[in-house]
Amino acid sequence: MCYLVQAVHQHGKPRAVTVTDVKTLADRIEDLLPQTQCTKCGYPACRPYAEAVATGDANYNQCPPGGAEGIARLAALLGKPVIPLNGANGVERPRPLAVIDEQVCIGCTLCMQACPVDAIVGAPKQMHTVIAELCTGCDLCVPPCPVDCIATPAVTGEATGWAAWSQSQADAARKRHDRRTARLARERDAAEARAAARRAASTAPAPEAADAAADASATSASAQTPAAPAVNDAEAKKRAIIQAALERARQKKEEMAAKGQGPQNTANVSADVQAQIDAAEARRRRLGVAGKDSNDSNDGNANTGEPAQPPEPRQPPKPSTPR
Ligand code: SF4
Ligand code: SF4
Ligand code: SF4
Repeated sequence: MCYLVQAVHQHGKPRAVTVTDVKTLADRIEDLLPQTQCTKCGYPACRPYAEAVATGDANYNQCPPGGAEGIARLAALLGKPVIPLNGANGVERPRPLAVIDEQVCIGCTLCMQACPVDAIVGAPKQMHTVIAELCTGCDLCVPPCPVDCIATPAVTGEATGWAAWSQSQADAARKRHDRRTARLARERDAAEARAAARRAASTAPAPEAADAAADASATSASAQTPAAPAVNDAEAKKRAIIQAALERARQKKEEMAAKGQGPQNTANVSADVQAQIDAAEARRRRLGVAGKDSNDSNDGNANTGEPAQPPEPRQPPKPSTPR
């Protein structure tokens, strides 16, 4: 960064104004490059080459599109002598223009992806074409083409280097390359975000699976803990108590029947007594013992009014699930 101090006059008096020049040496070098983004200098674009020259990692004679004039410009900025173009980077030549043979193009889009300044238009499986005004003649679209349908004829006659390329063309190419770089970065970020979302979705259990897993876990846990036997024990105990009570009631009933003290003349019971009988029957049914006795009304012969007959021995009631 350098500072430029200017003296301006206001109302006849000199006034000092400090202007900050934010351009770095790399910026200034980049301003002098032709911006074809061809990579012939050995760097992925003009900007990285400019930075490498600024730091001394690259020599200032590696840009074929700039040619001899380009080297002279850089030498003047750097305060160095003019030297020949490094032949390892290529030769200075008339500027080419890419032309696609549209009859042969298969629409693979590879050239479009390779073009550093978005000078090719087309769509997948559609014919592609080069926008001549935007083409920098960088040649980068040629190698990827699988059907060799891109030619690069020279379009500047004998003119080479900066004589075949204007500053306005260079500025326009730089802007297009910067826009493309920003767009690709946005697309890459969006693709990574989508991929991350897909990974997160694929590793997270589905709601149904999560519920099933939770149920399985709960079942497994309950099967492994003492809680399950405890519940079974409680139910078995309850059934045993009910069975014992029923057995006592049966014995009591048999005893009373043997003594002739079973329920008699239940046809004309009061409403309260009938309600108690009904409740007892309902309870018997609820406990799973409402069978032959209650259906036959053998307990009280309510329909006949005759004395009750001794009941037949009962089978123990089937265990039922308590409510
Ligand atoms: S025009 Fe090509 S060779 Fe020259 S600096 Fe840019 S990318 Fe490198
Ligand atoms: S069309 Fe081909 S030669 Fe022209 S700028 Fe694009 S990649 Fe380079
Ligand atoms: S690389 Fe060749 S075939 Fe593929 S779209 Fe470009 S010009 Fe057509």
